[in-house]
Amino acid sequence: MTDFPATRTAALEKLQQFLPRAGADYAKLRNFDHGAGRHDNVSSLSPYIRHRLLTEAEVLQAVLGRHSPRAAEKFIAEVFWRTYWKGWLELRPSVWLEYRAGVTRAWDRVQAESGLRAAWEDACLGRTGIDCFDAWAQELVQTGYLHNHARMWFASIWVFTLRLPWELGADFFLRHLLDGDPASNTLGWRWVAGIQTKGKTYLARADNIARYTGQRFTTQGLAPSAPPLDSAPHPAPLPAPTGDVVAYDRPTALILHEDDLSPGFLFDRGLAPVATALVQASAGRSPLAVSDAVHRFTTGALADVQARWGDRLGPVTMIDNATDLRAWAEGTGADQIVTPHAPTGRMAEMLTGLAADQPLARVLRDFDARAWPHATHGFFRFKARIPDFLAASGLRAR
Ligand SMILES: Cc1cc2nc3c(=O)[nH]c(=O)nc-3n(C[C@H](O)[C@H](O)[C@H](O)COP(=O)(O)OP(=O)(O)OC[C@H]3O[C@@H](n4cnc5c(N)ncnc54)[C@H](O)[C@@H]3O)c2cc1C
Repeated sequence: MTDFPATRTAALEKLQQFLPRAGADYAKLRNFDHGAGRHDNVSSLSPYIRHRLLTEAEVLQAVLGRHSPRAAEKFIAEVFWRTYWKGWLELRPSVWLEYRAGVTRAWDRVQAESGLRAAWEDACLGRTGIDCFDAWAQELVQTGYLHNHARMWFASIWVFTLRLPWELGADFFLRHLLDGDPASNTLGWRWVAGIQTKGKTYLARADNIARYTGQRFTTQGLAPSAPPLDSAPHPAPLPAPTGDVVAYDRPTALILHEDDLSPGFLFDRGLAPVATALVQASAGRSPLAVSDAVHRFTTGALADVQARWGDRLGPVTMIDNATDLRAWAEGTGADQIVTPHAPTGRMAEMLTGLAADQPLARVLRDFDARAWPHATHGFFRFKARIPDFLAASGLRAR
């Protein structure tokens, strides 16, 4: 049975179970990777937060209801890493396009170079002979999740020991992670490879792996150094999105998509849709086949939102591709279509296919609108603003 039932109820239960450990315990123990089924020292909430079955604000408020801001500082900062990465990519969407082009280039090479193909297959199947790496490849495929430290070590070994194109590693993650996210994944891999923080790479070391995995591995043969990959300079940041203003009294259709499955904030503003499309973009994560587990989680999350909000949605249509979305939009008969803002990634691309001839209003959450404009420099400058972000969102210790 999966550890990640795709429901908000399961997410809330996981959050409740984790809350006592979100303070000092998390600060002390979060870097330990105890292996599949034993990730109790971290929240494992990422598949739910990524699809916003739980919002970042809800998680932060729950944690602040239990711990002081100081005790929960580490956990709060990790949640804001997500917000920072999303904002960073939102200001520089060309980095996503460049990543996608890099996957295509690397995939072309895999098809043309038999040695590369064999090495790539061995890595994806967990057959490299590097004990920890093979265990993580299998854990990822079997569970749809990896601990953060394992993601860092895995990416580092992929890039610097196996010397495989980083884009193929990011693609492998996206095809299997239930939380697979255009921003956190792309920028996480770039960070390990020394592309994101220019010149600063992450080197996986056998002693560090042994220590933080409870001596489960005695890894041999890792690269002794991690010279940064060549890369283009960062593009200059664009202005942050501001979101569209919506007149909710006009006949309105709703596109509810996998990037934001908590539509309550729209109903609070007066939205009463004449029809709703529930849209998933999981097939577009990769040019290769995306795992059944990812599709199942996303489909389940959409079904869950329908079960929770069905009486507010009007007639519902499930959609999983841009052509059907366009056809649905043309037939709604509504004056306008409203959707929660989809950040840079495949879902946003599907919506862009509509924008030319459909009156699409993208509603930005206040939480994102406040934070994203500040993702202009490194995380530490952004982090200094966390108390302001929390206060402006009314998130405080109880
Ligand atoms: C190479 C690489 C790829 C990654 N790919 C993804 C991805 O596709 N999707 C994804 O959600 N995260 C990704 N991460 C970030 C991080 O590994 C996961 O968010 C985290 O491991 C999820 O487990 P958790 O929910 O138990 O985290 P916890 O430690 O319990 O943290 C709570 C929440 O904070 C956020 N968070 C924590 N650490 C990070 C981080 N370093 N960056 C961004 N957000 C963070 C997540 O939403 C997480 O659910 C990646 C990291 C690396 C190094």
